Amino acid sequence: MWKICATCGVEHDAAAETCRICADERQWVPAAGQLWSELRELAESGRRARVEEVEPDLFGLTVTPKVGIGQRSHLIRTPAGILMWDVPGYVDQDAADQVRALGEVAAIVASHPHHYGAQVEWSRMLGGVPVYAAAADMEWIARPDPVIRSWQDRLDILPGITIRQVGGHFPGSAVAHWANGAGALFTADTVQSNPDRNSVTFMRSYPNRIPLSAAVVDRITRTLTEFEFDRLYDNFGNTIDSNARTAIQHSADRYIAWVRGDYDHLT
Ligand SMILES: [Zn+2]
Ligand SMILES: [Zn+2]
Repeated sequence: MWKICATCGVEHDAAAETCRICADERQWVPAAGQLWSELRELAESGRRARVEEVEPDLFGLTVTPKVGIGQRSHLIRTPAGILMWDVPGYVDQDAADQVRALGEVAAIVASHPHHYGAQVEWSRMLGGVPVYAAAADMEWIARPDPVIRSWQDRLDILPGITIRQVGGHFPGSAVAHWANGAGALFTADTVQSNPDRNSVTFMRSYPNRIPLSAAVVDRITRTLTEFEFDRLYDNFGNTIDSNARTAIQHSADRYIAWVRGDYDHLT
């Protein structure tokens, strides 16, 4: 039987003794040590998935009470099928039915290993949907399965939707671009939205507050100039509703200036 890490919500083979994702310097292991859970146990504790419309053809998927770090997944609907972008660490029949009611899921892609969630189990519940994982991060797959395919650099996964590897937080960290309206960028924590709803940041670890270098932030930002977009959606339901492309550039300029020492006189 496979199992789920109770701290990060990522599925593992039964034989796993520790969760490497949590033991890694980007995450954390609880004071009580490694804790495992199983779907049945989570179901019995009253977990429930909820799908909400965010904008036309875009839906947010959350599980309450939260499993793992409690990310919001996104379902982006195109005429050729739905992309599930980031994956909850929980699934049940009701959750799968809610997603299927929106249309056929054509692909499951996590932005990075923290959001692999129960991706193989979601694939099975949705009829064997392919799961794409960045080649650079395959070492973090803890429940290998033939349904998982590797990709790198750039993947035009559905009409109007491109997955782009930009690295940083993880070498394979990616964003999804949706060429709908003025364009939307799904950044998870590859580029994370700030509480001011007008700026973003870039980090190797958010919980342990490990920064990235100016060179990496510059590289990420330059790569994102390939895309036109005005909205940004991160992994916790935080958004930038307009001018997100400008907000990323301003935020990167500010970040780089701070780590370069331009503002040391203020400290
Ligand atoms: Zn974990
Ligand atoms: Zn992360």
